Amino acid sequence: MSSAKRFECIEECSQCCVEREYYPSVEFGKIGVLILPEEKKKIEELARKENLEINILPRIGVSDSEDEEPEVLAYQLMGIEENGNTCPFLDTASDARSPHGGFTCKIYDQRPLACRAYPVIESQPLELDSKCKFCKECGQADSNLESELESLIQIKNKMNSSKPYVWRYATGIGDNKNSNLIQRGWQKS
Ligand code: SF4
Ligand code: SF4
Repeated sequence: MSSAKRFECIEECSQCCVEREYYPSVEFGKIGVLILPEEKKKIEELARKENLEINILPRIGVSDSEDEEPEVLAYQLMGIEENGNTCPFLDTASDARSPHGGFTCKIYDQRPLACRAYPVIESQPLELDSKCKFCKECGQADSNLESELESLIQIKNKMNSSKPYVWRYATGIGDNKNSNLIQRGWQKS
């Protein structure tokens, strides 16, 4: 009989607030933290209060036809490094540490839903992001993930659209070695 494996962040890990991936491929550039349209203003205000410069780009759009400007279903908060890594809200300068010993988030109580959902990336069946350090070291978990799961379901519900054309925004951001491959702007998905 299999027993539940409990999810806990790995001690001192901040990987998911630092490392950004090329998704769905290098051509699209590195992605940022997913921000719902209703979260965008709040995140911009929080950045102003913290005196931080942030860069929010579109991420997913939908349209009724191929020629129409996409309606944005989700934005993305880009990293502060030239290569796209490191969330602007991650406090890497102070000695403050989270309960598991990682760097702290300056807006933890008001962080985006995507940060609340991570590392859960699928709800049925439950799946964690294999790039999360916990998964790399301990495999998939199936307990202590209630609030993450709930946040993912909220995101999915809010990103529903009946429009037939789905677009993905290429960020134009990534490592120098990939600069000749990376594109920028809406691409049909
Ligand atoms: S969710 Fe995963 S990658 Fe993020 S801090 Fe926890 S263990 Fe690290
Ligand atoms: S908003 Fe906070 S939790 Fe989310 S990626 Fe940035 S530092 Fe991490």
